[in-house]
Amino acid sequence: MSRNPRILIVEDEEPLTMLLRYNLEAEGYSVDSSARGDEAEIMLREQTPDLVLLDWMLPGLSGIELCRRIRQRAETQLLPIILLTARGEESERVRGLGTGADDYIVKPFSVPELLARVRALLRRVAPRRIANILEAGDLVLDRNTHRVRRGNRDVHLGPTEFKMLEFLMERPGRVFSRSQMLDGVWGIDTEIDERTVDVHVGRLRKAINKPRELDPIRTVRGGGYSFDETYS
Ligand code: CA
Repeated sequence: MSRNPRILIVEDEEPLTMLLRYNLEAEGYSVDSSARGDEAEIMLREQTPDLVLLDWMLPGLSGIELCRRIRQRAETQLLPIILLTARGEESERVRGLGTGADDYIVKPFSVPELLARVRALLRRVAPRRIANILEAGDLVLDRNTHRVRRGNRDVHLGPTEFKMLEFLMERPGRVFSRSQMLDGVWGIDTEIDERTVDVHVGRLRKAINKPRELDPIRTVRGGGYSFDETYS
């Protein structure tokens, strides 16, 4: 039960983009592409893909810089990234991974090898992002139907609370500051006050927790909030 993973190709060599697109689509992935780093950054703010194939040398914004920026945003902190690089020196490779890429592949590479890396990385780091159903303890969130159940009852959530629960359940155990929650749930350019986060967390808790039920949302003193998947 999962939708087709979305892959963003950021590559300025048009023939390579076409080759990758063709092969990825043949494997069932949905593919977007951009030939510029700065344009890709804007695309990533509009929609978060499941994986990014990121060229090292790009016009507009380098692959390395884009990779750093992707890691700085709460929404894309865990986004799987495979760096495509023409450079083979070990130091450069290490530098590539040091910026937060999950994997790298040196050009020219074979398409089957790249596809294998993509599959492996999605399996390793993204099962939650590509799953339609998120489950933890007795909580089940269905992204398709926008339904949430706890045990055998329906939980009714407003759109913001739904998005907040989805955001937290995708990244169990991670602590998010109020500002990261704002970026992840409302979007990076929001001007909403950080205290609004507390209001919505309160509503979310009220909706998912009946009396005597354990609260899966942990308040971290001085930090923010976290979803504890071992709550029950
Ligand atoms: Ca390039």
